[in-house]
Amino acid sequence: METNCIKSSILIVDDEPYNLKILNELLRTDYSIRVATNGERALEIVMSDNPPDLVLLDVIMPGIDGYEVCQRLKADTNTHDIPVIFITSKTDERDEIRGFETGAVDYVTKPFRPIVVQARVRTHIDLKRKSKLLENQSLRDGLTGVSNRRRFNEYIEIAWNCACRDSSPLSIIIIDIDHFKLYNDTYGHQEGDSCLITVANTLESLIRRKIDLLARYGGEEFCCILPKTESDGACNVALQFQNKIIDLKIPHIASSTHSCVSISQGVATVVPSQDSSPEELIKMADEALYKAKNSGRNRFCTY
Ligand SMILES: [Mg+2]
Repeated sequence: METNCIKSSILIVDDEPYNLKILNELLRTDYSIRVATNGERALEIVMSDNPPDLVLLDVIMPGIDGYEVCQRLKADTNTHDIPVIFITSKTDERDEIRGFETGAVDYVTKPFRPIVVQARVRTHIDLKRKSKLLENQSLRDGLTGVSNRRRFNEYIEIAWNCACRDSSPLSIIIIDIDHFKLYNDTYGHQEGDSCLITVANTLESLIRRKIDLLARYGGEEFCCILPKTESDGACNVALQFQNKIIDLKIPHIASSTHSCVSISQGVATVVPSQDSSPEELIKMADEALYKAKNSGRNRFCTY
């Protein structure tokens, strides 16, 4: 099923079964609905592996009230993006202020008009979808579609800290297309762009684990982050990259290395510690890349 065919999901939280029934009837044709009659159950559902896209939240409930549910969702990085709309009979301005202060995006008072609830839910579902799309786009390289430098910087920090915590090896590979400037000069920039796209997609197709990341690092340079990977494992990946790019047989008549487009790679591995930094690992891989370039290209070297 296409992603855009899947209905957005809404969690309705209210201790009054009658309210749940009305809201469910109002929204169920356009959304997939789950319900909870108390704050504890609401938190369970939102914190689960399958959280809703939006929460319609009653304020007054026995046990954990709506304000607290909202506060807890907003305090947790896994759930703080989920929009919360309060739907309540509390009409005092101070109550509304409190609702917004806890992080709600909207506030609907009971008795509600169906069209108002429908319109506000639709607005916030759309907003969330768009901001998610934007966030996703801001981390992708515009030309090749693989992760961009920004995402690389973000992820190397995450991988570094994880590796520090569990003393596991972290490897990176810097990949550079051989004689790429000559390629552009010979075939033109459009062909150059299409070469970059093909190489990027080919490299990414060889990434099998979810924790690995391939990013466009700059011009014709890519970088691959391989957490929990020893040097041998990283060399294995580099070898696959090298062979697969040659297998593409993209003609490169100006190259003194090979008749087709080839890559040079630098591989570096460390078990990170607090007194070193990701920059050092990148520098090591850069030096190894330099070595690969100086010893004939179309190969990888380790630091
Ligand atoms: Mg209530």
